[in-house]
Amino acid sequence: MKAPIMEVFSSIQGEGLLIGRRQIFVRFAGCNLNCTYCDTPESRDPQAGTQVSLQELQKKVHNILTPDFHSISFTGGEPLLQANFIKNFLEENDFKSLLETNGSLPKETKKIAELIDYASVDIKLSEHFKDMNVDDLWAREMESANILIEKGAKVYCKVVVLPSTNVDTLRLVAHYIKREISDSSLVSMVIQPASPLEYWVQHTPRLFRMSEIVGEKLDVLTIPQVHKLLNVR
Ligand code: SF4
Repeated sequence: MKAPIMEVFSSIQGEGLLIGRRQIFVRFAGCNLNCTYCDTPESRDPQAGTQVSLQELQKKVHNILTPDFHSISFTGGEPLLQANFIKNFLEENDFKSLLETNGSLPKETKKIAELIDYASVDIKLSEHFKDMNVDDLWAREMESANILIEKGAKVYCKVVVLPSTNVDTLRLVAHYIKREISDSSLVSMVIQPASPLEYWVQHTPRLFRMSEIVGEKLDVLTIPQVHKLLNVR
C-alpha cells in the first residue's frame, strides 16, 4: 500500500492544543477543498507528492525520532484522503497521533477515529472560499468531530480568522458547535489569527472581542502560528 506524501519531518507543533510539542509531521499530497488562505497550496495537488509505502514511511519516521518526541501529526493537504493508509500505519506503529483535518470527510474519519488521540478539525467560513456555501460543510465537520470525540480523541475546532472576519460570524460558529457537538464540554475552539501577524497590529481589540463572544459558549483559546515566529516548518 502506498500514499502520496509531500514530506516527513521533525519539528515543533506551532498550532492548537499541542503547541510546543515535538512531533513528526507526515504531510500528504492532495486536498478536496480550495481555501483562499491555504498556506500549503503546493500540497493540494495529489500528483505533487511521492508515492511512499507503509514500510518506507515507517523507516523514515524511525530515522528521525528524537528523545523529546511526543506524537505523529498527519497533515496535508487533507490526510483523510489517505485514511486506509493511516489506519494501517497506526495499527502497526504504536505512536500517539494528531489528525489535522478539514473535517469534510466523516466516512473516512470513521475508519481511523479509534486510532487518533488528538484531532484538529477546521471550521471553514464562507469567506475562506471564492464561491462555496459552507452549510453542508459545517454539518460534515461536526459529524467528523462527533465521531472522533465518541472514540475518545481530544478534539479542538480551529477557525482561521482575518482582520476582516465579522465578529458575529464567530458567534454563529460557536453557537453551531455548542448545538451540534454531543457533549460540547469535551471540545475547545481555537481562534487562529491568520499569518502574517503584521495584519493584526491595528486589530488586536477584535481578537479580544472574538474570544469573549466564543467564550460565552465554549472553551476558547486564541493562538497564532507560533512555528512561523520560530522560523521552523
Ligand atoms: S483544507 Fe487545508 S490544505 Fe486544503 S485548501 Fe484548505 S487550507 Fe489548504
